[in-house]
Amino acid sequence: MRRSIAFLAAAMIGATPGAAQRDMSKVEIKVERLAPGVAVLFGAGGNIGLSYGEDGNVLVDDQFAPLTDKIIAAVQSVDPDPVKFVVNTHWHGDHSGGNENLGKAGAVIVAHDNVRRRMSTDQFSKRFGKTAASPKVALPVVTFGQGVSLNLNGDVLRIIHVKAAHTDGDSLVYWQKANVLHMGDTFFHKMSLPFIDLESGGSIDGAIAAVRAGLALAAPGVNIIPGHGPMATREDLAAYLAMLVDVRTKVATAKRAGRSLAQIKADNPAKRYEIAGGFITADAFVEAVYAGVGAKRR
Ligand SMILES: [Zn+2]
Repeated sequence: MRRSIAFLAAAMIGATPGAAQRDMSKVEIKVERLAPGVAVLFGAGGNIGLSYGEDGNVLVDDQFAPLTDKIIAAVQSVDPDPVKFVVNTHWHGDHSGGNENLGKAGAVIVAHDNVRRRMSTDQFSKRFGKTAASPKVALPVVTFGQGVSLNLNGDVLRIIHVKAAHTDGDSLVYWQKANVLHMGDTFFHKMSLPFIDLESGGSIDGAIAAVRAGLALAAPGVNIIPGHGPMATREDLAAYLAMLVDVRTKVATAKRAGRSLAQIKADNPAKRYEIAGGFITADAFVEAVYAGVGAKRR
């Protein structure tokens, strides 16, 4: 578990995959207030949403286990209460690595059914190797199929499952009153091409549908927390959607025309969107898109 989390850490924080493990003791957790009762925490791993106020603290994702004490200190700089709920946007260790510590401290963990299912058994990945099953205390206690809402801190947090997108257990979290949207890893902002985790049940069509669902939820002026990268606007998310659709269309058209994966990679339809230092290369993204589009017209 530790080893594969280190792998995820190296990969997901924008370092090249296989780079040396990042020293978590050097990571600083930065807090940015977004609206009354809502903040975002940046550290290493997935960005964390925070709901705070009279009903208790809620974290949306919790990064890596070695960071839990720093995350709690950052939360308490905003609100001294303990963490009451943790929502996981999906199962990956850079978003759920703090579950064990927070579960032991009494937080109730909430996530889609497939997050609990994947965390309950060993997971294997060509890219990341083995992730061992999590202990019971780290598993989501409240699970759902379509979605669930948390009614607290003067707002409604709508937690909405989006099917087969980055994984098969992704959720978007939307603060209805504050107009803040956490996209989980269905949105990488300015740090890498998209990661569609085929081995965890992700798909290009689900990734596109997830971004459309996010845009449908968001009111004008929305504050968007991406899974990784800096805060974003509605326009940023719309541009991300256009990029996904453009690459999907080009790959699907070429595949239907009988071009091989190697030929399509050479055409490089994702080239103009590639981000220097991003952990998903144009080739890796095109491979994931290619796997998800039919050879025949659909
Ligand atoms: Zn992820």
